[in-house]
Amino acid sequence: MELFQMYEQLGLRRAVWERGEAVLADLAQRFRGIDQTAEYNQAKVLAAMQKNRIGANHFAATTGYGYDDDGRERLERVYADVFHTEAALVRPQITCGTHALSVALSANLLPGDELLSPVGAPYDTLQEVIGIRPSPCSLAEYGVRYRQADLKPDGSFDYDAIRAAIGPKTRLITIQRSKGYATRPSFSVGQIGELIAFCKSVKPGVTVMVDNCYGEFVETIEPSDVGADMVVGSLIKNPGGGLAPIGGYICGTRSCVDRCAYRLSAPGLGQEVGANLGILPAFYQGFFLSPTVVAGALKGAIFAANLYEGLGFRCIPGAAAPRSDIIQAVELGSEAAMCAFCEGIQAAAPVDSFATPVPGDMPGYDSQVIMAAGAFVQGSSIELSADGPIRPPYAVYFQGGLTWHHAKLGILLSLQKMVDKGLCSFS
Ligand SMILES: *Cc1c(COP(=O)(O)O)cnc(C)c1O
Repeated sequence: MELFQMYEQLGLRRAVWERGEAVLADLAQRFRGIDQTAEYNQAKVLAAMQKNRIGANHFAATTGYGYDDDGRERLERVYADVFHTEAALVRPQITCGTHALSVALSANLLPGDELLSPVGAPYDTLQEVIGIRPSPCSLAEYGVRYRQADLKPDGSFDYDAIRAAIGPKTRLITIQRSKGYATRPSFSVGQIGELIAFCKSVKPGVTVMVDNCYGEFVETIEPSDVGADMVVGSLIKNPGGGLAPIGGYICGTRSCVDRCAYRLSAPGLGQEVGANLGILPAFYQGFFLSPTVVAGALKGAIFAANLYEGLGFRCIPGAAAPRSDIIQAVELGSEAAMCAFCEGIQAAAPVDSFATPVPGDMPGYDSQVIMAAGAFVQGSSIELSADGPIRPPYAVYFQGGLTWHHAKLGILLSLQKMVDKGLCSFS
């Protein structure tokens, strides 16, 4: 059977398939660049695993306190070597990215300290952690004040505002690499390095944390290579490689990571406790696969931007823009188009392909939200997924794909559903 017939069997028709192939014909050079980054990062991960002499004995499960867990300790050294940091905390007891960020912040801020975000408002879920939106146990409740310097209208850093916001009490500066669900640009590691250098020139010794969610392995360097004291992320995004079923990481200086470990477990216990419960094979293997998985997700994002921009939809980042994370926003202009797009993503999934996503109410959102995901790991957004709030400009945020070919099918089917419903046409 020829390739198109395989796709036809999955619900695609020839016009959309051919449109996709035409778009892809122009992307060969871009994709080569992505593969080169993945190759570099694969070597980086392999070197760290070999240096730390990972053996099959390090995959053994521990229970109870988890004292002397050599597999856990070596995994943390592998992460520290890849991120070029003194120390790392990589644990299934860190339940998600928000938890990792919350641990990193609350461990390294004390009552009376000030936290500064020089890149505008942080990710939604962090607003309650910080207390921007009041919540029990927020940093604000513990007497940590928050300041923010907004980006300039063109999305660049407002250095004057940042200098003015750094004061005697500024203890920690938090920088979010990915735009998340905002419309600002994501930042390259180079840009983050410039911002860190500026902040440290204004206040030497200030601690800088980078929310690295969705950014890992997109470039050959990480924020910890350009001066960040802590980089923090989720294992059900990039570095889990799709295999980690839970977890988060914090890589950074020994003193910052020690404090995080005391916050996560208890003062006095720190990194010494925390049974791995048999999860280490998925953590090791997922990290090993992550550079390739991220490359597939990036190809999907770039393909989507090129396909949809060519059809007249606004894409953020744009079709030709360089990438700093794996998220692609597409402004579809109507609720019906958002639903059709998400139906296509869902229909392409290996799991729950028969389900139809519909808009629904979500805690923390003032409009309804639609979500498409057919994932092996619940809520995993390194797997192919799309979601967005039902409000103008009716943008879907699309990310992930454990393999490039699955991402490609999902994007093509999203367009097929739009065409089937008369929401998009081309000749
Ligand atoms: C996903 C994300 C988080 C939170 O991670 P969860 O695992 O969903 O808690 C924080 N910051 C950014 C930029 C993210 O993309």
